Amino acid sequence: MNYSFWEKYFIESPVDITIIGSGIVGLSTAISIKESRPELSIKIIERGSLPYGASTKNAGFSCFGSVSELLDDIKNMGEGQCMEVVNMRWKGLKKLRSRIGDAAMAYTHCGGTELFRPEDEDLKQLCLSQIEYCNELMSHHISIDQCYSVKSNDTVLSFEKQSIFNAFEGSINPVMMMNELIKKAISLGIHIINGLTIKEIDKTNKQLIGSENIRIAFKKLIVCTNGFASQLLPNLPVTAARNQVLITSPLDNVKLDSCYHVDKGYIYFRPFEGRILIGGGRNYDAVTEATSEFGNTKVIQEYLLSILEKIHPGASKKVDHWWSGILGIGHTKFPICEWVDKDILVGVRLGGMGIAIGSYLGEQLAEMAVSKM
Ligand SMILES: Cc1cc2nc3c(=O)[nH]c(=O)nc-3n(C[C@H](O)[C@H](O)[C@H](O)COP(=O)(O)OP(=O)(O)OC[C@H]3O[C@@H](n4cnc5c(N)ncnc54)[C@H](O)[C@@H]3O)c2cc1C
Repeated sequence: MNYSFWEKYFIESPVDITIIGSGIVGLSTAISIKESRPELSIKIIERGSLPYGASTKNAGFSCFGSVSELLDDIKNMGEGQCMEVVNMRWKGLKKLRSRIGDAAMAYTHCGGTELFRPEDEDLKQLCLSQIEYCNELMSHHISIDQCYSVKSNDTVLSFEKQSIFNAFEGSINPVMMMNELIKKAISLGIHIINGLTIKEIDKTNKQLIGSENIRIAFKKLIVCTNGFASQLLPNLPVTAARNQVLITSPLDNVKLDSCYHVDKGYIYFRPFEGRILIGGGRNYDAVTEATSEFGNTKVIQEYLLSILEKIHPGASKKVDHWWSGILGIGHTKFPICEWVDKDILVGVRLGGMGIAIGSYLGEQLAEMAVSKM
């Protein structure tokens, strides 16, 4: 990197709050702090030239849970905790939309459709039988009525005819969203330092040790590195999970008209300007995909291509681009939002719906940080 004296001096000079990670959580946290305490100085350290995790690499679903995912989460976390997380997603989406505005992130209120494959018959029957229960939960916890309804799937014919529609979901362009957050952060006087990797948090001396022998003393530190968090804080119960994604070239006659979820949210696809984006399937090769390394593998690529072929015959021959992103997951979908040391706050483990939770978590982290200033 060959930092000049001036650059090194600027990067290393202490500020009130230092944040590691400029994904949606790092940026939202910094913005929320500045909104309540404009006098506080904030620096965000980001290793990538762009955020390099999930926030610019995701599928752009503005979603908060399909019926099969909700039932699965209730089984694993209990109804109370599950709905608390749904509430966070709902509040986070509202916050994001009011902060950025729909047009600036190309928000489309397209709804979300849960589809079932022929082999998902039992799951389908379970979900259909629980629609009323899930609607009551949504009505009670986030005050929306008739969230889910049975819909005739006349679009993706190799999937079951009965599908479940969520009228309250939408889609966004993740890079447009992040560009707006970056613009907002800069306009509030937040400094984002790109291209600097933090190698170690030296708790004793309250300093960050970065690449190029950079040393940054911190007063209050907020770690927002999600799937990579255990690289700096090894005892944190969050693990990395890779998600692979592809997008096709523009295709003839794409009839998809919403976001689509399959297999408890593990597979997702949506249309984009005549193309089809499809991603996920990490449960198909769970051991290999438990990694913080970016990349694509034959196993997942072939799996996603086989599903794509069922969605739109011939499309698997028209792939334009593959990529991957890294999630932070754990034994529960409840995010970690806590002090792990007197002056070190952590906001990570957003799972697969971080676009929804991110702004909410940012507000919580900001409140916690500001209360100690
Ligand atoms: C392929 C994919 C599809 C997804 N689809 C959706 C979706 O459709 N809808 C939805 O709601 N959610 C989706 N998600 C999840 C969502 O994108 C994430 O939950 C969310 O972006 C997490 O934001 P974050 O700020 O916590 O983490 P990140 O965006 O990962 O940001 C963490 C940042 O920390 C930086 N960093 C890490 N370590 C260091 C270090 N040592 N030094 C300096 N910087 C560091 C990284 O470079 C990164 O920019 C998807 C995720 C993936 C991977």
